[in-house]
Amino acid sequence: MTKQQWMAQAPGGDRASGGEARKCPRCQGKLLITRGEVDYAVGEVCSRCAESCPRCSGEGHIFVEHPGGYMTTQECPACGGLRRRVQLFNQARLPARYHNKGLEDFKSYLNPTLRQGIGNLPEVRGVIYTLVNGFIPGDKGLLLIGPVGTGKTHLVVALVRHLTLEKGIACRFIEFTHLLGELRQAFERKDNAADLLDRLSTVPVLVIDELGKGRKTDWELSVIDELISKRYNRCLSTFFTSNYELDAPRLPASGSGRGPVDTATPDFQRAMDTESLVDRLGASIVSRIHEMATVIRMQNVPDHRKLIAAYG
Ligand SMILES: [Zn+2]
Ligand SMILES: [Zn+2]
Repeated sequence: MTKQQWMAQAPGGDRASGGEARKCPRCQGKLLITRGEVDYAVGEVCSRCAESCPRCSGEGHIFVEHPGGYMTTQECPACGGLRRRVQLFNQARLPARYHNKGLEDFKSYLNPTLRQGIGNLPEVRGVIYTLVNGFIPGDKGLLLIGPVGTGKTHLVVALVRHLTLEKGIACRFIEFTHLLGELRQAFERKDNAADLLDRLSTVPVLVIDELGKGRKTDWELSVIDELISKRYNRCLSTFFTSNYELDAPRLPASGSGRGPVDTATPDFQRAMDTESLVDRLGASIVSRIHEMATVIRMQNVPDHRKLIAAYG
């Protein structure tokens, strides 16, 4: 029996031909279940569906007899691939509250009547949908820029979910302030700092959420610089989200552009108040990021709480 045949006959399987049996109540036909556990999203193969695996009855491995008469175990050829993908999902360390967020959750926004007033969210979702479907490790990443609450984290979580569970690609998700904290702790303990930096600078896909957030020391910036440089030099795919623009907004010109600038204007004040990624991280890091990732701006997307209120 092939994996496809097992998946077709499992309680949660895709019954394109049968169609009469009801979906597995535990996994709703997805063959796996995810949940938030303390900080991170955790997935597991649906035990009810796994028990129906004809090769391993849910054990995940099979025994193989060799010509010499001895037995070894090997990964179940029917459900092993699914188990490995679930393991990759767990290793990605997605935030717990986003454990079930996929790209399909944006589907309702593709409805023409629901698209009004949500800016370019459907277009951004479309770009990511196309990207993940054709994704090959090493492809250029994305930098999603936009205000808080516009769905950036949901989009990159959905990207990781798809790449791990559907394509079996190793990913790691980390929020920028956690990245700094973990690196600092690791270096202070003097135990696995190099390991951590090594893992983050070699994982095929890295997502850094909330780039530029929080206060940073020169030491932290130098470690970030090292991480970004290593990934840049190794041509590894890296994705970012940020509330900050790449560079500082241009100060409003006054009159001919040569006269004194009116520092009392709202535009001038806004420009002075708004920090950019260059301000936060330095020009050299931002320059590398710009080469590693295509910039996409969330335009006219309202805060998600307003979206939920409007569209349920
Ligand atoms: Zn199931
Ligand atoms: Zn199996």
